[in-house]
Amino acid sequence: MSKDVARELYCELGISEKVLDYGREIEQKLKDRFQQMDETAEYNQLKVIKAMQAHKVSAECFMGSSGYGYNDLGRDTLEEVYASCFQGEAALVRPQITCGTHALALALMSNLRPGDELLSPVGKPYDTLEEVIGIRPSMGSLAEYGVTYRQVDLLPDGSFDYERIRQAIHEKTRLVTIQRSKGYQTRPTLSVRQIGELISFVKNSKPDLICMVDNCYGEFVEAQEPLEVGADMIVGSLIKNPGGGLAPIGGYIVGRQECIDNASYRLTSPGLGKEVGASLGVIQSFYQGLFQAPTVVASALKSAVFAANIYENLGFSVIPNGSESRHDIIQAVTLKSPEALIAFCRGIQEAAPVDSHVTPEPWAMPGYDDEVIMAAGAFVQGSSIELSADGPLREPYAVYFQGGLTWYHGKLGILMSLQKLYEAGLVKL
Ligand SMILES: *Cc1c(COP(=O)(O)O)cnc(C)c1O
Repeated sequence: MSKDVARELYCELGISEKVLDYGREIEQKLKDRFQQMDETAEYNQLKVIKAMQAHKVSAECFMGSSGYGYNDLGRDTLEEVYASCFQGEAALVRPQITCGTHALALALMSNLRPGDELLSPVGKPYDTLEEVIGIRPSMGSLAEYGVTYRQVDLLPDGSFDYERIRQAIHEKTRLVTIQRSKGYQTRPTLSVRQIGELISFVKNSKPDLICMVDNCYGEFVEAQEPLEVGADMIVGSLIKNPGGGLAPIGGYIVGRQECIDNASYRLTSPGLGKEVGASLGVIQSFYQGLFQAPTVVASALKSAVFAANIYENLGFSVIPNGSESRHDIIQAVTLKSPEALIAFCRGIQEAAPVDSHVTPEPWAMPGYDDEVIMAAGAFVQGSSIELSADGPLREPYAVYFQGGLTWYHGKLGILMSLQKLYEAGLVKL
């Protein structure tokens, strides 16, 4: 099939020749980076297959169970696959874990006891964890159970403040939480290597500390995962990277046996632990999603890098920038005006396979001071491994976007965003 066939379809979908040529030129320059991403995906794909083979995944694993879910072969085998793949002793991978925040709350609340202290040596954690910890007073928080919290911010250049971290560790410090992704902050995302250095440092100060890594948005971006550099637990959501776009719900915790046992007794009940918890009809999608995840993450990364280079080239400030190495799938673009932010999101929406006919509007979302605009045409509600974008309507009008189940869809979405900005006269090509 010749190139021109795709060109015609791009035009039918609403991308002008000018925008298409602009995108083609940028894409040409990214061949080497894309090649690196494909190599990481290849390695991670083999890692997943190896884990599935080692635990003899078979058709019986996809049967699912109901009721109590005793002897659920598919559930138990999947947990062994996760443990092998991410190099932990054990795993908890369940549809009963409703989202990433729930998985993190579960890991924290089950491994901390009254009188313990939780330390974040990487600054403020993800927004939703503020209520879990009780940074913002909240019903049922760790604070209500007598678990205290301490935080050491990163230095202005994004590096660890080792001196203050050392001072913050004392006899009550029990668990250290390290967020890999920057989330929606402006600090840099941490590489697995950096996480390893931080863990060595804190364990040097106090060897029995539990080091938990919030692994959201980081899975399969690199060849190594945090358990390989000394973490005791990694935690994440299945409607992000490791669900590969196919898991319709779920969260995971992988790590040391004792940590996972604690989490299992809190998820279900003391005495029951991992023995109950029916997998219903979703378990096959967990397997298939994990199998697809390495290539899906590579597609999301290519989309992020493509967008960074397009918008950087047009003079917008982008985080991460067009050439730096990637440790998560999130891309921020500072669009500088409300019109550009709205146009960008409308482009992403219009390129979606689902709900492409709806027009996103800014709205007053609960919990936010400013209006927020969101674009998401996803198969799974709220899935952020699928191409999605959002941003608050305030200075500097930054859009955060992530995902893309396939690179070609990511590319179309970004070209469409550019098309909208171009049509509105907000950029010159
Ligand atoms: C998404 C995310 C969470 C919370 O996950 P939800 O599934 O939205 O509850 C926590 N931490 C980080 C870094 C995230 O990106």
